[in-house]
Amino acid sequence: MNFGLFKSAKKKHLSFSALKQAISLHFHAIKDSRVQGKCDYSQHDVLMSAFACMYFQDPSLSEFQKQMEEEQNQNNLRTLFNVEKIPKNSQLRDILDLIPSKTFAPAFKDLFERLRRHKHLEEYAILPNTLLCVIDGTQYYSSKQIHCDCCLHKEHRTGEITYSHAVLQGAIMHPDKKQVLPVMPEAIQNTDGTKKQDCESNAAKRFIANLKKAHPRQGFMICGDGLMSHQPMIEDIIEEMMHYLLVAKPGDHTYLFEWLEAFSELPSMDWIDEKGHQHHYRWKNNVPLHGEKNAIEVNFFEYTLTNTAGKIIYRNSWVTDIKISEHNIQTMTQAGRCRWKIENECFNTLKNQGYHIEHNYGHGKKHLSFNMYLLTLLAFYFHQIFELTDGAYQACRKKFGSKKLMWEKFRGVITFFVMDSWEHLMDFLLYRDDYEEMRPVKIRK
Ligand SMILES: [Zn+2]
Repeated sequence: MNFGLFKSAKKKHLSFSALKQAISLHFHAIKDSRVQGKCDYSQHDVLMSAFACMYFQDPSLSEFQKQMEEEQNQNNLRTLFNVEKIPKNSQLRDILDLIPSKTFAPAFKDLFERLRRHKHLEEYAILPNTLLCVIDGTQYYSSKQIHCDCCLHKEHRTGEITYSHAVLQGAIMHPDKKQVLPVMPEAIQNTDGTKKQDCESNAAKRFIANLKKAHPRQGFMICGDGLMSHQPMIEDIIEEMMHYLLVAKPGDHTYLFEWLEAFSELPSMDWIDEKGHQHHYRWKNNVPLHGEKNAIEVNFFEYTLTNTAGKIIYRNSWVTDIKISEHNIQTMTQAGRCRWKIENECFNTLKNQGYHIEHNYGHGKKHLSFNMYLLTLLAFYFHQIFELTDGAYQACRKKFGSKKLMWEKFRGVITFFVMDSWEHLMDFLLYRDDYEEMRPVKIRK
């Protein structure tokens, strides 16, 4: 039985079935380096089972696997995620550990291209054909005992070592949009056998080159924090024909701020909002980034928000290659200010709002830790796309208020019922009373 509510032909290309089919094809295409004939489970089934666990935000991989082995759930995994044979927990981790993480990149690219082809990225453009890509680093694993070949290590004075995994994440965002769209991240990690520690700056350099390679015709504006506003990073961004918008604080740019202070007045603009808050902007184009001979010229702008009592409630300053004027200063400030979303809407959601990204699903020896991160990020990406485009998903979000409660409900249903599709599962949750009473319902538009 399927009421087919909220079905929209227009959104078919971004429906769960279409996206699931797309990543299923990518997972099938990943080369299997294992000795064939000795494998109990296909790589595809391993990847899809782990993805399903992240998709349903189950905090316990082993519990989820156990439940899925029950007949009901096995059918759900088959109907919803194309899994033929459910892998045993330990084998799932062993197989996942061997899959090179870069093989996930085409799946991220595919989701991005679907959004682009069907005009959803136009709403995100900050300038014509230019998307704001906010980048930031975050650590998602830390331990004093368990480690792998790729762990970063930090030796303390006591001789004790802390092992960790971190990532340089990029996400497309827009000041007016709540949803953030992740792109393939870059692991901040050591390569096998080297003692040299990787760092955020190096990862950012690789990230920018890979972003260009994946989307050569798309314009980007790279938005980053004060750690990024140094000349080598800016030159890397320019080399890839991208724009930049980077935080520049007085403490990190003494020369630049002294240079600005030498002017008696800078171009500026003010306005007062309905709360009585004052928005003050000032800017200067063609400013040297530092005092050395080879300094590049940047365009500087600063924004200060003051309340009715005259107290500063927000202040920040940036450098960019875009010429600043009274026509674009507000847009550029809004773009710079939406950088906080990568912390709040992306990292905080992944760490604390149901996705358990810091949870240790098992560490492995090679790629398991980062592959789990990537599968979680893909699940998050699916959900962000549905929030943006899927009426039934939006209705579920509205009906249950908190995401946590909504996912508990979804997990509850798949424990007891076999669903022939994700759309059916959403219908069931939305119109449960209608299902229980088994009475015909009107097709709602
Ligand atoms: Zn590790």
